Amino acid sequence: MKVSECFKTRPVISFEIFPPRPNAKQPAIDKFYESLDTLASLKPAYISITYGAGGGTSSEEKTIALAKFIKEHYGIEPVTHLPAVAFNKETMTEFLDKLAAAHVENVLALRGDKPKVDNGNHDFTYATDLVDVIKARGDYYILGACHPDIHPESANAVEDTKHLKEKVDAGVSQLVSQLFFDNQHFYNFIERCELAGIDVPIQAGIMPVINQRQIEKMATIGGVELPPKFLKIMDRYKDNPVAMRDAGIAYAVDQIVDLLAEGVDGIHLYTMDNPVVTKRICEAIRAMV
Ligand code: FAD
Repeated sequence: MKVSECFKTRPVISFEIFPPRPNAKQPAIDKFYESLDTLASLKPAYISITYGAGGGTSSEEKTIALAKFIKEHYGIEPVTHLPAVAFNKETMTEFLDKLAAAHVENVLALRGDKPKVDNGNHDFTYATDLVDVIKARGDYYILGACHPDIHPESANAVEDTKHLKEKVDAGVSQLVSQLFFDNQHFYNFIERCELAGIDVPIQAGIMPVINQRQIEKMATIGGVELPPKFLKIMDRYKDNPVAMRDAGIAYAVDQIVDLLAEGVDGIHLYTMDNPVVTKRICEAIRAMV
């Protein structure tokens, strides 16, 4: 099924998961599948699977096996992330053929985080460059990323919106946003999209920030603005892990309730494979979705 079907009923609530690293030991793999069980029981509209996120490595075979498992075991549609930087034209084409053979119909076309070590793949410069290759290879539903706080490599919002429109015109049928912590930035972004004639569904990407490690990661993403309210909470509770987790969940729920009241198309939860946090968020918004 194409995940476009999910948008017949809005808001669409979906999850992002991080698969275990290719060299992960069995206990980590077992823990991942245990977490996935809980995440799947929360019945997201679809589950997207990161690939090479943060510049790390991923395994094609394990990604395909995981996508198949999600589809066949839970009856939930998987969306496979395809970062351009991890492939050249030939390996991308081969990967797409393997996805088709596994009946994976939905892909998130991305530029990707720069790999930590140059892998020699320079065929694609931008996510848009991937779209023609994907379209030529099969009947995929193509999702793309967008950046409410403006992508750090863009000179300004006008330029960023112009390139986003090009991506949609090339064949991206749905957008999933980068995480953000100030909803007003998302609303301003939606307005820019409307003015530019970008009329595909746009899901708001929400990440509950529940520990110090994540706060440090925020700084590496670049471009994501941390509002004073967020910084105050994080500063206050950073040395108290339980309070920090509760505060992070509360902040994410507060953001989501406001977004749902505004009538957004959907929420994409960056679960960080954390079933406890994701469950608490889903329970808090259950009657609203
Ligand atoms: P692009 O759409 O290519 O845009 C990147 C920049 O280039 C923007 O500034 C854009 O305005 C500009 N641009 C685009 N086209 C042109 C053009 N023709 N000329 C000049 N400038 C142009 N990374 C991973 O490695 N693996 C993952 O699994 C992963 N998952 C993600 C999931 C989501 C929902 C999001 C939001 C991000 C994810 N990322 C992942 C990170 C993502 O790859 C980075 O944010 C990356 O920097 C941008 O990706 P993009 O697809 O938006 O890039």
